[in-house]
Amino acid sequence: MQAFSDALASFWQIWSFTLVMDVGRYVIAATGLALILKLFWNAGLGRRKIQARSASRTDVNREIRASLRTAIIFSLNGVAVVFGVMHGVFTIYPDFETTGIGYLAISVAAIIVAHDAYFYWTHRLMHHPRLFRYFHRTHHRSVTPTPFAAYAFDVPEAMLMALFTPLWLLFVPMHVLGLFLFMAFMIVRNVMGHAGVELMPRALADSRWFGWINATTHHDLHHSSFHYNYGLYFTWWDRLMGTEHPGYREQLRDNREAAAPDASGRYRPLVAAAGREAITPSLLSSE
Ligand SMILES: [Zn+2]
Ligand SMILES: [Zn+2]
Repeated sequence: MQAFSDALASFWQIWSFTLVMDVGRYVIAATGLALILKLFWNAGLGRRKIQARSASRTDVNREIRASLRTAIIFSLNGVAVVFGVMHGVFTIYPDFETTGIGYLAISVAAIIVAHDAYFYWTHRLMHHPRLFRYFHRTHHRSVTPTPFAAYAFDVPEAMLMALFTPLWLLFVPMHVLGLFLFMAFMIVRNVMGHAGVELMPRALADSRWFGWINATTHHDLHHSSFHYNYGLYFTWWDRLMGTEHPGYREQLRDNREAAAPDASGRYRPLVAAAGREAITPSLLSSE
């Protein structure tokens, strides 16, 4: 009985910490970016808006509700990770003597590259017509995303996304600072991808050296088209697998003009990539 109450006490203690971390990083990143957009809208950011359409208050409220639910799921996953560390399943170390700064830097770069691959392939999977409505419909209700859509997932999608960190830790020991930097990078890039405003230099469209970094237009097009651009941080998987939006680079060069609706007020009709993932907006409606 004593052992059980001790376990329960440590559960609450750990959960209060992971909850603050997961809800906190979402709230800080999403509201922080929303505030930046508001403050600098007239100073130039407004001209970099990607879609002519704007998200409604209802959209934002739905994004916040779903994102907070995801943050709670992430925090429970965090408790499982901490218990795993306590029982020697995972290694998260606090000192710099164990492996040095070089390992820390390489492990952070490696986890980002691995997470991008994990995201690309699980994302493609969730677009399978049999899985889409259970895993990914909530996220695509945001046709014109806002920073608050960062965690707007269905419960199964949130669990699939949470699974990445324990899977990685099964094989790769991480410094606690390395894990923190990865988490910070993830949420910052995530809210940027949903900003609705191009935050990256348009030169990324043609840059030989930096064209592999996703601009905001990249993920925004995924939301407005339902197809193409499945990657999170980098363009290489989409390029390799032929899923990069054919108009992405052109749209990034001049996003405002290309994103405007046609004469009848409709947005660019997008065709399923070679019929592979036949998700249509009709799947988004609830039945
Ligand atoms: Zn998607
Ligand atoms: Zn998204």
